[in-house]
Amino acid sequence: MGLRIQRQKLWDSLGAQPWDLVVIGGGITGAGVLREAVRAGYRTLLLEQRDFAWGTSSRSSKMVHGGLRYLAAGDIKLTRHSLRERERLLEEAPGLIERMGYFVPMGKDQRFKRMQYMLGIRAYAAMAGTHDASYVKQPDLLAAMPGLAGADLHGACYYTDTVTDDARLVLRVLQEALAAADAAGGAAHALNYVQVRDFDIDGGAVAGISLRDESTGQFTTVEAHAVINATGAWADGLRGKLAPGKRIRPLRGSHLVFERARLPVDEALIWPHPEDDRPCFIYPWEGATVVGTTDLDHGADLNFEAQISRREIDYLMALAGACYPQAQLSEGDILSSWAGVRPVIGSEKSRDPSKERRDHAVWSDGNLVTVSGGKLTTFRLMAQDALAAAAPHLPKRAAPAGDDGRIFAAPAPSDPGPLPGPRARFEGRYGAMLPALVEGATPAERASLHGTPYCLAECRWAARNEAVMHLDDLMLRRTRLGNLLPQGGDEILPQIAQICAAELGWDGDKWAAERARYEAIWRDCYWMPN
Ligand SMILES: Cc1cc2nc3c(=O)[nH]c(=O)nc-3n(C[C@H](O)[C@H](O)[C@H](O)COP(=O)(O)OP(=O)(O)OC[C@H]3O[C@@H](n4cnc5c(N)ncnc54)[C@H](O)[C@@H]3O)c2cc1C
Repeated sequence: MGLRIQRQKLWDSLGAQPWDLVVIGGGITGAGVLREAVRAGYRTLLLEQRDFAWGTSSRSSKMVHGGLRYLAAGDIKLTRHSLRERERLLEEAPGLIERMGYFVPMGKDQRFKRMQYMLGIRAYAAMAGTHDASYVKQPDLLAAMPGLAGADLHGACYYTDTVTDDARLVLRVLQEALAAADAAGGAAHALNYVQVRDFDIDGGAVAGISLRDESTGQFTTVEAHAVINATGAWADGLRGKLAPGKRIRPLRGSHLVFERARLPVDEALIWPHPEDDRPCFIYPWEGATVVGTTDLDHGADLNFEAQISRREIDYLMALAGACYPQAQLSEGDILSSWAGVRPVIGSEKSRDPSKERRDHAVWSDGNLVTVSGGKLTTFRLMAQDALAAAAPHLPKRAAPAGDDGRIFAAPAPSDPGPLPGPRARFEGRYGAMLPALVEGATPAERASLHGTPYCLAECRWAARNEAVMHLDDLMLRRTRLGNLLPQGGDEILPQIAQICAAELGWDGDKWAAERARYEAIWRDCYWMPN
């Protein structure tokens, strides 16, 4: 069953009996909690107010990193845990999580910094067990990164971390949780476009949870032994109903996407921004090149999608220009942008956003547990911490038999036939469902869509099986076609319209409304400010 549900039937039955656990938030943290809750045998309901991964978890820099900055800050334990999780994810879902090299260029007069950095990355690589840190001399660096402004460089420190598609990571974790629950005959559901509106509070605990289905406008109430608030940057809002106070410091970070042909890079470059020396990235992603990121207080209302500002565009263009002056990039080369809001636990100690720590926190208020902060890499550990805090309120359940502790089931050996990219990429994204995805797909549906790593068979699969409610779900999160094609992919929309008509029953009026909605979202939040 997974995400393909009879939505109204499920909605009507939601309040029939108390859930063991309700998880609020369909980002990576909520998805991780669902995965671990199913492993522990809990009847669990996950609710997301917009689309799965609509919040920060589709708008990060997408690096599943071990946290070199934690090591630099002397936090050995956290670095070790993050690296262990990184390697585990890489081993369990290759193709979804992929190793990527990072060059950190060093100037000719930076001998001490070079030595310091090499010590750090050697220790980092040794802790990860990869032992792949090295120093690359200037000619080799310029051969690996053609066009880089390298005249004043001595060379670069080189190490590896990993990169992913964060929205697909969320989807895969959700799918794995739901598949594991189905296999064990347990009850677990995940619903997008359902907002938690309020709590009934009784004796300092959540006695009822009021919900609104954003697609129909219907309201209902459910009960649960425990509630986990995994709403990231939004966490203060629901927690405030039991424990008022502001703990989250929302920090915005934005990125620009360029066609690879205009800015070809095969590995990541970390470069101190010429304006403020903040380390920024230029890296390959989904066949394009990404320049990021910024780090500033986000004062805007979180109910509106975050968008890049004029100032951030100038800042990121200045970075790209400093690194690749010969490319002579202009704003006309920008394919798209995205902006996300980091759920950083505010320390009130630092005015500088980049000095705030990035680890997670768990707060218990009666049977409401709030988990926020952290990062993509450590979602399993965050989920375990949140569940441990909720455990006193949860009934005893037997863990399903045969659980092997993996997050992702190994894909069944099969030959999916021709695909527009490496097989591992598809196995990583679709796991055991890949054979069903390709079954019956025509050669034309398996071909690359305008040179992207996506094909129409994936769009059809998503529309049919991945809880697509709006066109933006399909173009911006199930696939990244809206980020990778000019003008948000308007060229392929006629083909997508046919799929939506066949799989979702959208008629002409519905399609026109969805297209207008998508174009407005893309223009406002994935392009440039007016
Ligand atoms: C610019 C940027 C770059 C980053 N880069 C990296 C990186 O490279 N590597 C890394 O590991 N981390 C990175 N991060 C951090 C990482 O993305 C976040 O830590 C992570 O995505 C947070 O996930 P989450 O599930 O806690 O929050 P979210 O993904 O925001 O999920 C919370 C969800 O809760 C939902 N919600 C809110 N209120 C309600 C309600 N009342 N009812 C129902 N649902 C509700 C929201 O709609 C949202 O979808 C980056 C973050 C940013 C912004």
